[in-house]
Amino acid sequence: MTLRIALDNSYARLPDRFFARLDPTPVAAPGLVRVNAGLARDLGIDPDALAGAEGLAMFAGNWVPEGAEPLAMAYSGHQFGHFSPQLGDGRAILLGEVAGRDVQLKGSGPTPFSRRGDGRAALGPVLREYIVSEAMFALGVPTTRALAAVTTGEWVMRETALPGAVLTRVAASHLRVGTFQYFAARGDIEGLHILADYAIARHDPGASHRSFFEGVVRRQARLVAQWLSLGFIHGVMNTDNCSISGETIDYGPCAFLDTYDPAAVFSAIDYQGRYAFGQQPRIAQWNLARLAEAMLPLFDADEQKAVAYAEDALGGFAPEFQGAYGAAMRRKLGLATSAPEDAALVQDLLTLMAETGADFTLTFRGLGDDVVPEGFEAWAARWRDRRASEPGWQALIRATNPAVIPRNHLVEAAIVAAVEREDFSVFEALLAATSRPFDDADTAVTAPPLPAQRVTQTFCGT
Ligand code: AMP
Ligand code: MG
Ligand code: MG
Repeated sequence: MTLRIALDNSYARLPDRFFARLDPTPVAAPGLVRVNAGLARDLGIDPDALAGAEGLAMFAGNWVPEGAEPLAMAYSGHQFGHFSPQLGDGRAILLGEVAGRDVQLKGSGPTPFSRRGDGRAALGPVLREYIVSEAMFALGVPTTRALAAVTTGEWVMRETALPGAVLTRVAASHLRVGTFQYFAARGDIEGLHILADYAIARHDPGASHRSFFEGVVRRQARLVAQWLSLGFIHGVMNTDNCSISGETIDYGPCAFLDTYDPAAVFSAIDYQGRYAFGQQPRIAQWNLARLAEAMLPLFDADEQKAVAYAEDALGGFAPEFQGAYGAAMRRKLGLATSAPEDAALVQDLLTLMAETGADFTLTFRGLGDDVVPEGFEAWAARWRDRRASEPGWQALIRATNPAVIPRNHLVEAAIVAAVEREDFSVFEALLAATSRPFDDADTAVTAPPLPAQRVTQTFCGT
């Protein structure tokens, strides 16, 4: 094999209890779906080499490149509010780091953390994660990336038998709130120290434990503000899916809103609406409180002082979120400057949109052409007044409000074509369209779903 990738293995140099070493499990008949050439180049890897036989073998888990020290990471997590002390990578294997970023196979076979799972991924969810994570990147949202998708030539048993696949994911790191919880739950203070220092080295060089925590709070607040400004629902904001780096991670039952509804839920297993669209800031803050609890011994040797500090630092979430959200929404209205009436202007538009079930993306995009939905005229008059002092309003609207998002029905159509007909052209076309979200595009990709096309549920679909 001649494919060479400059892999570092900083995580593998941490103590043994941080992970389990193992190779991916080979699959029967790998087939290349796609290599992300742009991302490969960013990582300093030749995309043509990745698209060859060795790349395919690597992405399938059939060949481990020289210099990799494959491992499954240990972590815990609150899932729908309930704490599981041992989760970990049950179907993912970290190959190492390229250019400081983790390269991980997802769906690469069982690990010591698999519990009852098979360690595999189905093609549909792999394609969904590919499309949505790359769309988020194009929209300017911090996110893990998709480097490649391959089919395995094997079936995975879910409710029915589905074709299997492996996604290669690139992340600033795979450290989660749940990674900190793992050591805290075991009373492993030494492990916590090592983890925090490792996280600081990767994400906040030079930071103290306290300023590192404040950085995580800031990143999460800004991230969720961006989600809300784009109509994105993560769907499963468990603490193990909450990244320390501030990237969006673990695209499962995620969705972009069609009609605006703050109570919208797409996940088939979120019965209580815990992770509903409008709940996301509150849940992010809840997750950060769990991180603070785990990090308490690092904040101060005196527990009372540590708690007082943590409460204070968590108090930083709301203003950070409000600031980022307010600015993002203002810009969506074409307002580069801020005025006292802006918050009400935003809120009143959202209220109208919720009352009328307006399409989130099209309503904002339409503002760029001075178009508002029927019944919004009184609001529009106020907006035009405010806008009068904003010479760049139109360009700002077009630069901040996408025309193209990976709408559920389009993602679903791409998955159906691939899974049922082995036709990946629909997936490719959707990727191409969503990679240029701010360009005007054909109504085939910009239009909301017809009633019969509406997808109201996405599944954790592992
Ligand atoms: P998720 O909901 O995808 O974030 O996964 C939650 C936990 O379940 C993580 O520890 C995953 O590694 C594990 N998991 C999910 N699907 C599987 C699977 N098919 N096999 C083994 N573990 C899995
Ligand atoms: Mg180990
Ligand atoms: Mg997860």
